[in-house]
Amino acid sequence: MNEKTIANHPDSSEQEERQISRLLTGLSASAVIFLAGIGAKAWHADHTTHAWVLWLFILPIVLNMGWYTLKRDRFVQKTGLLITVSLLFAYLLASGGESNTGPLWFYVFPPLLFYLTSLKGGTAILLFCYLVALIVFQFPGLPFVTAEYSIDFKIRFFATLTFESLFCFVLEASRLRARNKLLELAKAHEYAARTDELTGLANRRDMQSRLNMEFSRFKRAGHHFSVVLIDLDLFKRVNDDYGHDAGDAVLQQFSGLAGTIIRQSDVAARWGGEEFLLLLPDTTLLQALTLAERLRSEVSSTEFRHQGVLLPVTISAGVCSISKANSVNELLKQADIQLYNAKNAGRNRIAPRVRSQEHPEQTSTPGPEA
Ligand code: GH3
Ligand code: MG
Ligand code: MG
Repeated sequence: MNEKTIANHPDSSEQEERQISRLLTGLSASAVIFLAGIGAKAWHADHTTHAWVLWLFILPIVLNMGWYTLKRDRFVQKTGLLITVSLLFAYLLASGGESNTGPLWFYVFPPLLFYLTSLKGGTAILLFCYLVALIVFQFPGLPFVTAEYSIDFKIRFFATLTFESLFCFVLEASRLRARNKLLELAKAHEYAARTDELTGLANRRDMQSRLNMEFSRFKRAGHHFSVVLIDLDLFKRVNDDYGHDAGDAVLQQFSGLAGTIIRQSDVAARWGGEEFLLLLPDTTLLQALTLAERLRSEVSSTEFRHQGVLLPVTISAGVCSISKANSVNELLKQADIQLYNAKNAGRNRIAPRVRSQEHPEQTSTPGPEA
């Protein structure tokens, strides 16, 4: 891609991260409500320790939410919630929760984990959780383990959780594949929508929107800009005498040459058949004329060849600065009038012409060579 002509794509991963953050905020709020409710139920059933532990888990979740509101740090938000939820599940597994149903909450974990982390990261965390579950099941005598599970329950728990984890892994992998494919397609589509296929330069539509943006910048902050409307001289003859492919090759070679002359911040576009438009931000009329003259002189001294045959190529250009127009349309109209003047004056030249004392670089513009 030509960096001079292609604007940055909208950052889709940023959009996705924002979506994940919103989901995490929603999940955190729901977790607080659930913990408060189930804690209250445990309290009424006289399971006061269990109730207090559940209520205690509200604290890190609320702190994490508060921290995110203040700092907007998504990494901390995600990691904080994952650690809290992992600890909560470990506790439910070790204590059994209400009537040994605590481990059931574990089934929430695999889809959440794969969605929030990567496939590799999710698998690693999940394996660690399996290890914790294995320790809890194998060593009921450990001080923090109060629940006892039947052997059937343990086998079924591991088997069903493994199935769920595998499904989640496969689904997430295919979701990511489809998402990446879509992103690639969107990028390619967007690139094609604003790029000229033959030359790789910006197309007319892209240039039009850049002109509008530059005009807004001028209105807002007074940044002047200029345009150069270029037309290849007697191009029909090139096609007629050397063939359409030769004409295409000239258009491509000229585009490459223009790309080497303009600055990084300038934009070159294919405006129509053999017409090109340069947008030169922060450039006065005089500077734009200098650049146009340099390009003209470079084109006339460059050998354009197609299949070894030398082709006669020169350009004419009309230059206009926004200080001479009240709108983008008027700017383009003025540039077009100047281009017409350049053609009328004999081609292979730039208009308006500047007196040499005002514009020492342009001492003369040659007459038509074609
Ligand atoms: P002038 O100096 O007055 O501009 O003369 P000209 O021959 O360049 O102008 P005219 O408008 O008569 O002809 C333009 C030619 O450009 C005609 C058209 O076939 C050719 N052209 C437009 N687009 C393409 C293209 O994509 N490839 C090729 N090979 N030729 C093209
Ligand atoms: Mg033309
Ligand atoms: Mg022409």
